[in-house]
Amino acid sequence: MSVRPLDIDPSLCFIAGAWVSALSGQTLALSNPSDGSTLCEIARAQADDVDAAVHAAQNALDGPWGRATAAQRGRVLFRIGQLVQENADELARLEAIDVGKPLTQARADVAALARYMEFYGGAADKVHGQTIPYLEGYTVYTLREPHGVTGHIIPWNYPMQIIGRSVGAALAMGNACVLKPAEEACLTALAFAEIARRAGLPDGALNVIPGLGAEAGAALASHKGVQHVSFTGSVGVGKLIQKAAGENVVPVTLELGGKSPQVVFDDADLEAALPFLVNAGIQNAGQTCSASSRILVQREIYDRVTQLMAERYNALRAGPALNDLDLGPLVSRRQQEIVHGFLEKGSDLDIAGEGQIAGDAPQSGAYVTPTLFAGVSASHPLAQDEIFGPVQVITPFDDEDEAVAIANGTDYGLVASCWTENGGRQMRMARALRAGQVFLNNYGAGGGVELPFGGTGLSGHGREKGFEALYGFSTLKTVAAKHGR
Ligand code: NAD
Repeated sequence: MSVRPLDIDPSLCFIAGAWVSALSGQTLALSNPSDGSTLCEIARAQADDVDAAVHAAQNALDGPWGRATAAQRGRVLFRIGQLVQENADELARLEAIDVGKPLTQARADVAALARYMEFYGGAADKVHGQTIPYLEGYTVYTLREPHGVTGHIIPWNYPMQIIGRSVGAALAMGNACVLKPAEEACLTALAFAEIARRAGLPDGALNVIPGLGAEAGAALASHKGVQHVSFTGSVGVGKLIQKAAGENVVPVTLELGGKSPQVVFDDADLEAALPFLVNAGIQNAGQTCSASSRILVQREIYDRVTQLMAERYNALRAGPALNDLDLGPLVSRRQQEIVHGFLEKGSDLDIAGEGQIAGDAPQSGAYVTPTLFAGVSASHPLAQDEIFGPVQVITPFDDEDEAVAIANGTDYGLVASCWTENGGRQMRMARALRAGQVFLNNYGAGGGVELPFGGTGLSGHGREKGFEALYGFSTLKTVAAKHGR
């Protein structure tokens, strides 16, 4: 199986517009989660490679990229988006085999990446400063400026989507980016760099340095030449990143985990709700920061919803990514072990529904049986901790107050949804739910390029996606000119 994305050598880093080996010459094996085989070798970048990438980015800011107008930056992003679409099949296949996600889901990620480039390409020349009325004899205005070099440390679950939302917005604002993809899945990050090169992005405006988190990631987060760090990943590493960036007093955006609830009231349109209730939990085998892992159901309809969700669960099939079933494997054996550990913690609970691992799924793949637990108390570890696997819990509630208390009763606050036909209740719930995104009668999960996204509490801070991201990836300079006599 070829994994050479767009004819590039996946064992290389992309620095200053060129494909180069890590300075140490070392590589890491990239594993295929569908069968445990080795896909290829990737570069093991370390501090000296990070240093080279940051310098390349600084040079880009001093060169053509730094001098490009906002409209020119936008046009480059459009061209990147176009090439993403032209290479959609190859990108989707790479993402599917690398992450282990079903091909249809990988195709949706490619479409999202192209749309991010279109959205941020169009927005590049529409963010600007203001004039501010001030004292007599003064003209005061603000300039929106890039931070400079931005570091992007991303996870393995949605590489293309996360590149789109963070690198896309950062480039639109004129920053130069150093991207550290996850060691578990980095092929589309490399393919994206090649696409950006072919689209005419100036050398050094984007650099990609695959490697281990504790090596390349830590070196990037603490590098003194980096002026902003965007991190998506676990809470534990997020804290390390914030500390490291704090040493240099640079801003960070942290997109961390979640335990996102969907609240279903007894007047909900169940036919509309059902696909969202299940899909938001099992998409990408539950390895989604905005996965809806908790379903809260009003007691009057609790049995019915549990039964309807269970029927869907019983029909779910997991298998190799390219077989394009409902679920693929998890990204790694390590992730599989973590999720199996959670399933053991639920051994005292009622399993309401259970999918199957397809017969032809290799034993050596990282598959997990999709599992729906019912009657789970709000304080149970399965209702509190992020699992990052195809596991959902159903918890009953009696009234609106109790629903809000349970929904808000975790340390996270990323996404929430509410299903009800009562307009007043929709408005009350939208205000009461503690989350960065609230969906009423739908569950958008990670979708929606235009919609600002980010968390509260342990889910992180800062907003990516939508227009809002452009403010995060830029800084404001105030100019006060005294010209009066
Ligand atoms: P992770 O935090 O271990 O890794 C994420 C990235 O950080 C990888 O590139 C990794 O190499 C790097 N990294 C690891 N240690 C580092 C260190 N010491 N210094 C700097 N970089 C380091 O997370 P993961 O296991 O890859 O991903 C799963 C977690 O990510 C889940 O908790 C999930 O909720 C979260 N996540 C959140 C979002 C979001 O948008 N909120 C999206 C995807 C994943």
